[in-house]
Amino acid sequence: MSDPSNAIKISKVSESKISTVDFDDLEFGKIFTDHMFVCDYIDGVWQTPEIMPYQPLTIAPSARVFHYGQAVFEGMKAFKDDQDQIWMFRPEDNHERINISSHRMAIPEFPKEFFFEGLTQLLHLEKDWIKKGKGNSLYIRPFVIATEEAISASPANSYKFMIICSPVQSYYAGEVKVLFAEKFSRAADGGVGYAKAAGNYGAQFYPTSLAHKQGYQQIIWTDASTHEYLEEAGTMNIFFRVGDTLLTAPKSDRILDGITRKSVIQLAEDNNIKVEIRRVTVSEIKEAAKSGELKEIFGAGTAAVINPISGFEHAGDKFDLPKLDDSYATFFKDKLTDIQYNLSEDPHGWRYKV
Ligand code: PMP
Repeated sequence: MSDPSNAIKISKVSESKISTVDFDDLEFGKIFTDHMFVCDYIDGVWQTPEIMPYQPLTIAPSARVFHYGQAVFEGMKAFKDDQDQIWMFRPEDNHERINISSHRMAIPEFPKEFFFEGLTQLLHLEKDWIKKGKGNSLYIRPFVIATEEAISASPANSYKFMIICSPVQSYYAGEVKVLFAEKFSRAADGGVGYAKAAGNYGAQFYPTSLAHKQGYQQIIWTDASTHEYLEEAGTMNIFFRVGDTLLTAPKSDRILDGITRKSVIQLAEDNNIKVEIRRVTVSEIKEAAKSGELKEIFGAGTAAVINPISGFEHAGDKFDLPKLDDSYATFFKDKLTDIQYNLSEDPHGWRYKV
């Protein structure tokens, strides 16, 4: 592992499929680039990583991932600036987080050298898939699955770490309305909510599909024991603007430590916007909506960056949020994307050149 660049085996596609892709009409996460990064864990050791053509895997039906959901993932993006330079945003944090997730799911941690060397070499190979222009990016999905063939309910002794990439445009279009959860929960105290464990996402599909039927695109999850505290959305942390103060829930074992969230908190501090990191109650937000003090709700996450929310419902009470000229959502989205696309200073060293 001392010189990982020599260690990675690379086999390239004979012909790229890029010319078949319409980059002006991309559905999020549907198209994948030509290559993928693969590294197997066997007998206690991460083996020599490989970059190879994107292709289906052959995995035994008894592989533990299929039975026990021993799987974690990450979501990150690469951006191209006007000089054709490629950038990522705080990728060390994603590496740390996948290992935090792995630790919780009894999966071996993935070495930093392999992670960064694999990412760099893969992105250099796929550079033409990263298009210039704000909103365009390459969504990067590192993940780990338990591959050992054994259906006993215990941690596997073999795993596959992979990275696949998908070109994307802006994530959400149109208005997003949300339902505050009253019955279902996403995460429990002492559980895996803070991990990007695959099952955390699958478990949300059913309640979210019920919300869709009611006309809501997403659920804002509340704490499992009282449903009185607002926590986060399915793939985003949540901010509330009451007056000119931003409120967001503290990190906990139920909430993912979002990289966009902590960047928004830092940018707010840099720009003298007051942030309160504390438990936020459903009733205070409903009261603030009634009195007109609630000015905005927005989500923060890698895929959407900042996602303004136009209204919400809780216990049959429906609220619409005003349209603002001086929205914090737009302010933070501009600040973050300017840093990501190398259009502004980067005072905190968040940009990472690939
Ligand atoms: N919460 C959850 C549950 C998520 O899946 C994500 C997406 N990773 C986020 C919040 C936002 O995290 P980040 O800003 O690091 O993408």
